[in-house]
Amino acid sequence: MQRRDVLRLGTLAMLAGPSAFAAVRVERADVIVIGSGGAGMTAAMTAFDAKVKVVVLEKMPITGGNTQLAAGGMNAAETVFQKKRGIPDTVKIMYEDTYKGGKNLAKPDLVEILARNSSSSIDWLTAIGADMSDVGRMGGASVNRTHRPTGGEAVGHHIIHVMRQNAIKRRMDVRTNAKVIKIFETPGGAVSGVLVQNKLGQLYTIEAPTVILASGGFSANLERVAKYRPEYASFSSTNQPGATGDGLDLAAEFGAKLVDMEQIQIHPTQAAGSKILITEAVRGNGAICVNREGKRFMNELTTRDAASAAILKQKGQTAFLVFDETIRRSLKQIEGYFHLELVKSGKSPEELAKAIGVDGGNLAVAIEGYNKFQAAKKDDDFGRPDMPRPVKDPDYHAIEIRPGIHYTMGGVAIDGRTRVLGQDGKPIPGMFAAGEVTGGVHGANRLGGNSISETITFGRIAGRGAAQFAKTGRRV
Ligand SMILES: Cc1cc2nc3c(=O)[nH]c(=O)nc-3n(C[C@H](O)[C@H](O)[C@H](O)COP(=O)(O)OP(=O)(O)OC[C@H]3O[C@@H](n4cnc5c(N)ncnc54)[C@H](O)[C@@H]3O)c2cc1C
Repeated sequence: MQRRDVLRLGTLAMLAGPSAFAAVRVERADVIVIGSGGAGMTAAMTAFDAKVKVVVLEKMPITGGNTQLAAGGMNAAETVFQKKRGIPDTVKIMYEDTYKGGKNLAKPDLVEILARNSSSSIDWLTAIGADMSDVGRMGGASVNRTHRPTGGEAVGHHIIHVMRQNAIKRRMDVRTNAKVIKIFETPGGAVSGVLVQNKLGQLYTIEAPTVILASGGFSANLERVAKYRPEYASFSSTNQPGATGDGLDLAAEFGAKLVDMEQIQIHPTQAAGSKILITEAVRGNGAICVNREGKRFMNELTTRDAASAAILKQKGQTAFLVFDETIRRSLKQIEGYFHLELVKSGKSPEELAKAIGVDGGNLAVAIEGYNKFQAAKKDDDFGRPDMPRPVKDPDYHAIEIRPGIHYTMGGVAIDGRTRVLGQDGKPIPGMFAAGEVTGGVHGANRLGGNSISETITFGRIAGRGAAQFAKTGRRV
């Protein structure tokens, strides 16, 4: 068959549903997962282990999505690793931090699910072979609850590697260069399959009673970002290029409700002049933040929206993360920033100040003042809640940072069982969603570490729910 015939049939299929496309190539599955990031792979593995036929479709040439870029960690409360360290965390505190961090806009039932299941999500990751044994902290958390591999490996890279290995071991059907361009519907309004485009532009259909949308957010789609937040039009993004939000269109076309779309997160620490995100763990591990005058100007561990707003008020709308050799050694990812030549260094605060063009006297005073607060365990200037290390072990280092578009809190509306809700607030039969494509978990501001947590917890719920729906054919 000629390619143009395939395309023509594809168009027909888009207009008429999967049966119109049957002559070309039709496959069948129980559960189709759209997207191969943390949410998609978790959902797919969970459904696969429930013994249904699963196909994962990923439009990019590699699996992993934004998840494989995640560097800081995953939040979870009451975990075995916190207990080992005597960290007095509870589900209630994680709920309160998350809800407050999201400015009371999140859906309380979804936040509750996130917090309550977070510890078992750490156990689930451990069971599939991930190392989540180190515990640190990111902004907006009252206690240390950010889980990550010991030794400083980036959390997302590690998790996706483990998930790829699991998919291979299970012989799962995971396809790259497979873009879903339509979700088909039965005359009764239930999911009946998807239309897929391969890397040659050819189309094929997969019929299935359930689809799990795990297609991520839209921070790399600056046009879409500007539609909701025109003031962000000139910002750059920290995301992988596939984070364009197609899943939102697929769901909206089907009648799904979208929520909180204007809630777009700016991350305070993108390396100035690049697309590289400097993980929040650099601040969590002890770095301070100074402006062009060499002065501290904020609690470095405040929430992302507050930190971004504070940086944007500084001269040049940039700032500097300042740290020393001990902090450098505490986090493997920092070495990567050196390799990328994002770091400037000096043997003393004055020498560093010269290298980055700030006032040397001010920088020395800022570092000395911070070290005093650190020793006294009380930051009198900005109320920073956690100061794990002083900044006093030469060489001194700095990375210039500016806020960048990082995360989209809005997305498809779901209920506590990850069923996608239609405009009427009722679940769309057979459609599930998990991860950044959904809205409601983070409200107006996501706390660092809560997204990976969301992808695993809601991915597991979606995988279970979709498998059960496919097996029984009834609403779950
Ligand atoms: C640089 C960076 C660092 C981060 N660090 C952290 C952190 O430390 N902790 C934390 O909690 N969060 C972090 N985040 C956020 C977090 O990584 C993401 O929000 C989360 O991984 C999203 O997971 P997901 O599975 O929902 O989507 P993704 O991982 O983005 O996966 C979605 C996948 O769907 C694919 N897709 C999209 N449309 C289609 C289509 N039509 N057909 C087929 N496939 C499609 C995409 O290509 C993508 O691969 C970070 C994000 C970035 C960018």
